[in-house]
Amino acid sequence: MAHYGNNEKCSVDVLSVGYLTPGVAGTVVLARVSERIVILDPGMVPTRQSILSPLAALGIDPESVTDVVISHHHPDHTINIALFQNALIHDFQATYINDTWTARKAEGVQLAEGLTLLETPGHTPQDISVAMETTEGLIIYTHLWWSKKGPEFDKYSVDQDQLTQQRQRVLDLDPAWIIPGHGEPFKPEELSYK
Ligand SMILES: [Zn+2]
Ligand SMILES: [Zn+2]
Repeated sequence: MAHYGNNEKCSVDVLSVGYLTPGVAGTVVLARVSERIVILDPGMVPTRQSILSPLAALGIDPESVTDVVISHHHPDHTINIALFQNALIHDFQATYINDTWTARKAEGVQLAEGLTLLETPGHTPQDISVAMETTEGLIIYTHLWWSKKGPEFDKYSVDQDQLTQQRQRVLDLDPAWIIPGHGEPFKPEELSYK
């Protein structure tokens, strides 16, 4: 399990690495900062244990997860939200818990100092990315790329030009690592659309 950072800032653990063949699985991430225990994209995985076992190995009970952030509304990134009964759910437009829907824009929302939501539409109009400041530099979780191979043209994108602009915006933040929706973390210089 890839791990970045320490308790001084945000710490980031990749619980399950996504893929697109054979099958479909999303990349599921744990971010911890201050009192917040945050799961990013509890989506499709081989079994729920693919999320729960690495969490247990880190000593984290699903009930203690405080927040879940979804990068967008496709089921490959959302199907396991209900594993986290006490979590406040965050998307591009609101937070949700029990029967309370609190509208807000996601851009610039800080779940804690060092964990910030960015609106990055392009794959869908509802995309957000998560910027995490760690002792190993800035790490961005995003579905703007499926893996370090892109793809350059996202065949599911509703607006490829917007996607390209948002990719540039993320690269301009100079992240140390990008964690993509369906692949291993990569460094920006490893991006290759071939
Ligand atoms: Zn999607
Ligand atoms: Zn996806």
